[in-house]
Amino acid sequence: MKWLFLTAKPDFVPDKITLLPDNIANQIAAGEVIQRPGSAVKELLENAVDAGATEIRLIISDAGKALVQVIDNGSGMSETDARMCFERHATSKIRNIEDLFHIRTMGFRGEALASIAAVAQVELKTKRAEDEAGTFIEVDNSVVRKQEPVAAPTGTSFAMKNLFFNVPARRNFLKSNAAETRHIVDEFTRVALAFPEILFTLTANNQQLFHLEAGSLKQRIVQLLGSNYNAKLVTVKEETDYMNIYGFVGKPETAKKTRGDQYFFVNNRFIRSGYLNHAVMNAYQEMIPSDSYPMYVLFIDLDPAVVDVNVHPTKQEIKFEDEKIIYAFVQSAVRHALAQFSVTPTLDFDLDASIQQLPSIQQPFTDDKKNAAAAGSIFRGFTQKNQAHFIEKSESGELKHWNEMYARSESGAGSREPETTGPANHSLLTTHHSPLAADAEITQLLNTYITLPSNKGFLLLHQQSAHERVIYEQLCAASKDKPVVTQRSMFPSTMELSPADAAVMEEIMDDLKYLGYTIEPFGKNTYVIQGTPADVEAGNDKHIIDILLEQYKHFSPDVKFSRREKLVRSLARQQSIKAGTRLTEREMRQLVTDLFACATPNVTPDGNPTYLEFKQEQLERMFGR
Ligand code: ADP
Ligand code: MG
Repeated sequence: MKWLFLTAKPDFVPDKITLLPDNIANQIAAGEVIQRPGSAVKELLENAVDAGATEIRLIISDAGKALVQVIDNGSGMSETDARMCFERHATSKIRNIEDLFHIRTMGFRGEALASIAAVAQVELKTKRAEDEAGTFIEVDNSVVRKQEPVAAPTGTSFAMKNLFFNVPARRNFLKSNAAETRHIVDEFTRVALAFPEILFTLTANNQQLFHLEAGSLKQRIVQLLGSNYNAKLVTVKEETDYMNIYGFVGKPETAKKTRGDQYFFVNNRFIRSGYLNHAVMNAYQEMIPSDSYPMYVLFIDLDPAVVDVNVHPTKQEIKFEDEKIIYAFVQSAVRHALAQFSVTPTLDFDLDASIQQLPSIQQPFTDDKKNAAAAGSIFRGFTQKNQAHFIEKSESGELKHWNEMYARSESGAGSREPETTGPANHSLLTTHHSPLAADAEITQLLNTYITLPSNKGFLLLHQQSAHERVIYEQLCAASKDKPVVTQRSMFPSTMELSPADAAVMEEIMDDLKYLGYTIEPFGKNTYVIQGTPADVEAGNDKHIIDILLEQYKHFSPDVKFSRREKLVRSLARQQSIKAGTRLTEREMRQLVTDLFACATPNVTPDGNPTYLEFKQEQLERMFGR
């Protein structure tokens, strides 16, 4: 009433602030942690893991709306702890803010159980190994209804009943049973993947959906994600002082049209990161169509001090002290793994008919994006010799791609487990240096393409692209350990450059020397080409250097290639045999041999295919046979 307000003395105005009762405060706080039955599943499973359980059973009914129960054989709780655990900020996992930076447990906020108890009816039964009797406690709406000693096995059983029974508005927000069950299975899957050494079961409405025996990560992946991944997983494993990565990625042929089956864990915590996902996608770029998604289950372990998991209680977001390092590391580790084990041709007609149209294969990605990260000094660090990530070509490694291409069908079932790859099967191979069978028919078409049989059909190589790849890898290898052999020119040619080009020349001269071109200044913007690579046909070196300068200048500045990388790419392009050049049979055989000795034979440095495989089976289908 306004008039009262106007005439009343100031001390008649009532104060407005009141303290919320605990149960209301808890209900509000619970909104952050428990949004749906799946959130409770995550929290309860994580608590069981933190308690050191080796067996964890999840039981749900009515999509978790009626019941979410987790039974574990972990440490259990004392009577006092059993009572305490429902208090907000009650945790045994940290004691001060410092601990947060060393956290290795899944939980640490001490909010989950308080939240669950605020929005559901809870029954806790728990016993420690050293105690005679266990404790039974019933709580709902944040109020303890019952507490008594009970006979119980060691461990904890935590049952959450009738979620949101006291918050109807939130109960109404729950989705269909199918959708909520999906969330539960997702959470279950994430925890179960992270802890393959723990036995997990999931029972829904009295039906057992999962029974996951303790075992290896690989077994766990196959149990959870499907046996079609069996024998199609490539091991990723790299260790450095800063961080380790471990896990599996699917062979390119297992890539799917829909996202899913993609899991990142940081210190065993499932996280979502578009950024790291991008790093993995980049590693696959040349191997799968751009609109498909590879499977991966990757674990990154690093000092908790450089990760901030405290961003949001449930959002599964994470902040790294240095994201770029992690990106480069993930990308190079996956790339390394794929290069070691995967030699699947880019073009696999079995994948999808639409891929036959090729555009996505011909321009599978934008170079700039791909390389911005890859060319950073960190990435290069990973690919140097003596680093864990350097891709070493071994004696047998040189023939590896040949074996894959030609020996695979002879090994019977087809796909071989990388781990079980035995000594190379050389039955179709002749000598070390010329693994192409002497009687294999090799033909040049249109002075540009080379055809040759493969064990499933035939390959169609693009000679220029193939040669570009070969030179690229040779130059990379050469520029890494020892310079390319130079041959002194008998008639050194002189180049007069514009001041701008002279500046570029000064910049790249040392690197050029490494790549086989000895160039010396000869006064005012003039240079003399004293030597050229021994195995590159002499004659047009002036032209090559000209183009090199041109291309070097025009490499987009946001492509952070090293100077050497730019030169190597440019040289590979120029020194390659051009389309339209007639080749002798010997040259063709050499090219094919060299190509399949490459670490990544199937694409040019720019990502275009170097060859296509046509499988007989496919050809037959195309002819309606
Ligand atoms: P947090 O996990 O962040 O510590 P919670 O609310 O999830 O917080 O749990 C509170 C405390 O209750 C934990 O710190 C732990 O000491 C105890 N606790 C919870 N669940 C279990 C369990 N399954 N077994 C043993 N102790 C548990
Ligand atoms: Mg917890």
